[in-house]
Amino acid sequence: MAIDHVDVLIVGAGLSGIGAAVHLRRNCPDKTYAVLEARGAIGGTWDLFRYPGIRSDSDMYTLGYSFKPWTAAKAIADGDSIRDYVNDTAREYGVDEHIRFHHKVVRAEWDSGTARWTVHAHRADTAEDVVLTCDFLFTCSGYYRYDEGYTPQLPGVERYTGRLVHPQHWPADLDHTGKRVVVIGSGATAVTLVPAMARQAAHVTMLQRSPTYVISLPSRDPLADALRRRLPAKAAYPIVRWKNVLLGVANFQLSRRAPGVVKALLRRAAKGKLPVGYDVDRHFSPRYDPWDQRLCVVPDGDLFAAVKSGRAAVVTDTIDTFTEHGLRLASGEELPADVVVTATGLNLLAFGGMTLSVDGADVDLADTVAYKGMMLSGVPNFAMTIGYTNASWTLKADLVATYVCRLLRHLDATGQQIVTPLAPDTADLEPIIDLKSGYVLRAVDQLPKQGPAAPWRLHQNYPRDVLLMRHGRLTDEGVRFSRATAPTTPATPVA
Ligand SMILES: Cc1cc2nc3c(=O)[nH]c(=O)nc-3n(C[C@H](O)[C@H](O)[C@H](O)COP(=O)(O)OP(=O)(O)OC[C@H]3O[C@@H](n4cnc5c(N)ncnc54)[C@H](O)[C@@H]3O)c2cc1C
Repeated sequence: MAIDHVDVLIVGAGLSGIGAAVHLRRNCPDKTYAVLEARGAIGGTWDLFRYPGIRSDSDMYTLGYSFKPWTAAKAIADGDSIRDYVNDTAREYGVDEHIRFHHKVVRAEWDSGTARWTVHAHRADTAEDVVLTCDFLFTCSGYYRYDEGYTPQLPGVERYTGRLVHPQHWPADLDHTGKRVVVIGSGATAVTLVPAMARQAAHVTMLQRSPTYVISLPSRDPLADALRRRLPAKAAYPIVRWKNVLLGVANFQLSRRAPGVVKALLRRAAKGKLPVGYDVDRHFSPRYDPWDQRLCVVPDGDLFAAVKSGRAAVVTDTIDTFTEHGLRLASGEELPADVVVTATGLNLLAFGGMTLSVDGADVDLADTVAYKGMMLSGVPNFAMTIGYTNASWTLKADLVATYVCRLLRHLDATGQQIVTPLAPDTADLEPIIDLKSGYVLRAVDQLPKQGPAAPWRLHQNYPRDVLLMRHGRLTDEGVRFSRATAPTTPATPVA
């Protein structure tokens, strides 16, 4: 039976997968491609998460694509607007016609002889197993498990008679109007949920074990508003984008070089927005340094305003046990709750659980070293999209897609078929993700490593990566280009 073949197979139709397909269309128009998507919709994260208030915590001038200006009024945007933006992009560039929905990729096998990947997918809609081949496999599959969010052990939870929900699986029928709500967690999701739910709930408590840095930013960008009135969107967008990139880099560098100064600034800013006499140190002054974990952004200080109004409160304590009608804390305090939301995070998962093999040998990701943060040592013709931890995801996703297109053109121009990253000759390796957040620490042992220096080092620095990936050399000590050794088997090309 003939097997479908494409030049490039993209896994995932989220923000990154749609972006990757557009880059491919624009920069390698002769390449055939398909996008395999496990779910029945475009948008990934921005389609999956449906909890109240779901929004970005990056500004959309950097979370948007380099090629498609973000033109909506708000810089920090709600989930629906982001989903629409990704869908509009897919339609505008004709990428939607290349997506095969309900195709979950489970395994990909590389064969050096034919210089091809054989990709196995399972169709959720028909229960069929599907096989495709491709020359280049480009994973844009996000970084976490879609079917299950992370919930820690909750003592006594079986006794609780109220509603227990995880933000990743928000029940469409949940009406929290007039209800007493407890949100367990202190990350981006918790700080989003608390002010959003406080609008209708009787009261919302954010219960955290330890505090997180929370910073208020305006939901509208004054420079973007001013430029929008004077310039066409295509001219205004890159200016605002670069302004935000440079501000982000400056903020990160200052946090790394003078953490004490940034700590003090964040504390002072929070204090100014909270009621007089509020215990800022207990609830908003973490023990770790800024950017050891991601900073949480709240637009227009909405979390602080909810606390100030008395509609929401922050409690820093640990759970002794769930009771029938709420929670008892280690301090002995009781928190009555009709609804408890476990905003306790994600389960990290590479490639949506897809496994890889190279010439018959299974790839253990923990044994690989990331090359330029986007390919894996010993894994040919393969790229992955992992965004920045200290800046918008899409900034890196755009660069990865640009680099893949450069690689594909280089292979064609030199008459070669295979590009294989090599591991650095050192044992001085570190985890690929440098955050100390719980969800990272729980999985970091299973992930690829990074090396001590370029091209194996992740600098988490967009301007530097622009030079490296848009303009830097394709041939360096970290990569080998070669030719296929056996004639390719016939396959049916698909557009
Ligand atoms: C609640 C939330 C808020 C966030 N806010 C921000 C923010 O403000 N700024 C920021 O920079 N980042 C943010 N992030 C990170 C966010 O995930 C990225 O911004 C971005 O959406 C990632 O896009 P992606 O396409 O790479 O991955 P995803 O959005 O996760 O999409 C991956 C797609 O791949 C599909 N897929 C996965 N595995 C397979 C497989 N094996 N076979 C077929 N299909 C597969 C999935 O079904 C999904 O559609 C947030 C994340 C979450 C969870």
